[in-house]
Amino acid sequence: MNLKDAIRTIPDYPKPGILFRDITTLLGSAKAFRRAIDELVQPWAGDKIDKVAGIEARGFIVGGAVAHQLSAGFVPIRKKGKLPHQTVRMAYALEYGTDEMEMHVDAVIAGERLILVDDLIATGGTAIGAVNLLRNMGANVVAACFIVDLPDLGGRQKLEALDVPVRTLTAFE
Ligand code: AMP
Repeated sequence: MNLKDAIRTIPDYPKPGILFRDITTLLGSAKAFRRAIDELVQPWAGDKIDKVAGIEARGFIVGGAVAHQLSAGFVPIRKKGKLPHQTVRMAYALEYGTDEMEMHVDAVIAGERLILVDDLIATGGTAIGAVNLLRNMGANVVAACFIVDLPDLGGRQKLEALDVPVRTLTAFE
């Protein structure tokens, strides 16, 4: 079974010209979901990872499973205004303009080893915002993991230039 075949492509969603890589079909397959999580965590089997940070919303699903597999805690990184306790915020680059993401001020203890998870990396703007937010709180971001890479958009190189090792399972050119 090829993981890439488990991912559905929706043309022109959410806007004309975008090829949306829809991982809900992968999540809906018990075999593909298990395999994706097993492959994502493989470099850290037996390693001590304190926490996994997942980016809203699909990063919660993938990151929750990764955290469980690594016996790590989970930190949600959310769009602004969604978290109930005191938060820290970070602006990040969108295709057009910027937005802000948040996490709880006490979600990470300085020095904790942490893996960042999302479903997909495109331009890298979202993941770079999350890395900056986590590092500002003193986290040691050990790696960033994604099921899908869109290599033409260059996000992976930008993250690696920040000294964040990147793990991806499939690529769509
Ligand atoms: P970026 O900040 O450009 O790396 O975009 C990554 C974020 O946008 C991730 O949270 C993805 O879920 C979402 N995203 C961007 N492009 C796509 C795409 N073509 N298909 C599915 N999700 C995407």
